[in-house]
Amino acid sequence: MPSKPSSIDLADAASELMKGVAGWLLIGLGVAGLLSGTGGIVQQAGTADIIAPVLVVGFAILFIISGVLVNPRFRRRLDRRHRPSRFGRVKTAENRTRSATEGKREPCVVCGSRSKEGPVRRYRQEYVVAGVPLWTISEKHNFYCPDCALAELSGYSTGSTDESDTAKRTITETE
Ligand SMILES: [Zn+2]
Repeated sequence: MPSKPSSIDLADAASELMKGVAGWLLIGLGVAGLLSGTGGIVQQAGTADIIAPVLVVGFAILFIISGVLVNPRFRRRLDRRHRPSRFGRVKTAENRTRSATEGKREPCVVCGSRSKEGPVRRYRQEYVVAGVPLWTISEKHNFYCPDCALAELSGYSTGSTDESDTAKRTITETE
């Protein structure tokens, strides 16, 4: 059953795209400035003219940082970060609740019945450097209809032996 995305969704997607483009532009400018600035520092080393390339490098770093912060994809990653001492593979399980406004019906992983509302459990394995997830190794979504959710999710929380590795977060999305 195809469902039309609402105008709000489209506006959100467009603004997210714009922020992403702006973020990459800032990062691109920053990298270009960083390269020419460091080149200038090498050339002007020991002379009074070194201030100009040093300023360029300073602004370039600011551009890169603001580019990363404005980019929704990077921001989400920063929001998901772990302790700064974390390196390597990290497994996370995230719970969120699908609301009826999201439109599409999802099949329940237990009974197969399609439902609009219910909890979604997302398992993610990602590679983390200094607590920041750099790339996702694998991702899996499990959707539960409201009927199966109670039985299934309560079974998980009592039956699973969670290592400190598994960070749990509950994200409730409201429109
Ligand atoms: Zn079900």
